[in-house]
Amino acid sequence: MNPTLIKPKVAAFEVTGRCVLHCRHCRAAAVEHGTDPLDTTACKAILRKVADYTRCLLIFTGGEPMMREDIFDLVAYSRSLGQRPVMATCGAGLDRQTMLELKKRGLLSFSFSLDGADSLAHDSFRQHERAFALVMQAVQAANDAGIRFQINTTLTRLNVDSLESIAALAVSLGATCWNPFVLVPVGRGDAIRQLLLEPQEYERVLERLADLKATLPIEMRLTCGPQFARVARQRHLPKAEKVGGCLAATEFVFISRKGDVQTCGFLELSAGNLVKENYTFGHIWERSPLLCGLRDLSRYEGACGRCEYVKLCRGCRARALSASGSVYGEDPICLRAQQKKEGR
Ligand code: SF4
Ligand code: SF4
Repeated sequence: MNPTLIKPKVAAFEVTGRCVLHCRHCRAAAVEHGTDPLDTTACKAILRKVADYTRCLLIFTGGEPMMREDIFDLVAYSRSLGQRPVMATCGAGLDRQTMLELKKRGLLSFSFSLDGADSLAHDSFRQHERAFALVMQAVQAANDAGIRFQINTTLTRLNVDSLESIAALAVSLGATCWNPFVLVPVGRGDAIRQLLLEPQEYERVLERLADLKATLPIEMRLTCGPQFARVARQRHLPKAEKVGGCLAATEFVFISRKGDVQTCGFLELSAGNLVKENYTFGHIWERSPLLCGLRDLSRYEGACGRCEYVKLCRGCRARALSASGSVYGEDPICLRAQQKKEGR
């Protein structure tokens, strides 16, 4: 193995494309009915091959992972392999008893999504009249069952004025971490790309997030906002050196519901299919032209290719692809990219 190559520290496994909600931004474009392409045996083979290669945090995601009948079995199997299983869920179908059973099988924590500080904001974004109530029930159940959870929030122009309120809500609910995600307009999210923040607006949001990170009593992580790595250093935030840019193809891997190895769930390019390629996870991770290319920063183009922060930040490859048609292009929401284009 190339000595500079890192094995993934976090793997997300999209075990289903089914979900009871119909969220506006859903990259998986999840629907309620359908058949999961991977059966239990195939899922276990994938879990085993990933564990053979790297012991990591394993995120069960979807769609809604609780829609799989074998989810308890998969969680237990993942834990038995030495992985650290966690689950990203909308909260549907999760009562205290279910959570205790998942905990018994080895699940370590949940992430619940809250995209607004109240039911009006959250339910309209999630396109379900009880979405907020479902999360509140799941939070209560997690607290009762003694399982840790974090709150995820998709940042868009709709909720950008409420960031501080949503963060405060996450704290009051007992979350261990508040984890905003910057919108990536793929899947159903393609239809709401007008909700992407403009570069100036986004830069102000990064400043506010830096203030929150410095003052919140719980952890705050920003996902898919790689420019925060720059802002954290410019603002001299505590532990700024631990705030990284995009981790796709370096520390993070995504495995789709069909078994495709991807950089992340938002970049819908396959580095190789585990089922068709005999579950050779390590081979795909180390040799795939896509993953090797994305690790080679000299290939980056446009403003990102000329940027002094590229090693730290890397820009969002999925937004670059979506905006310019090139996975090596520039991240359209970045202020520094805009300045570079203006020759500054
Ligand atoms: S490519 Fe973009 S969406 Fe994917 S992990 Fe990186 S920042 Fe996030
Ligand atoms: S131009 Fe690209 S590499 Fe530079 S800060 Fe912006 S997104 Fe990051």
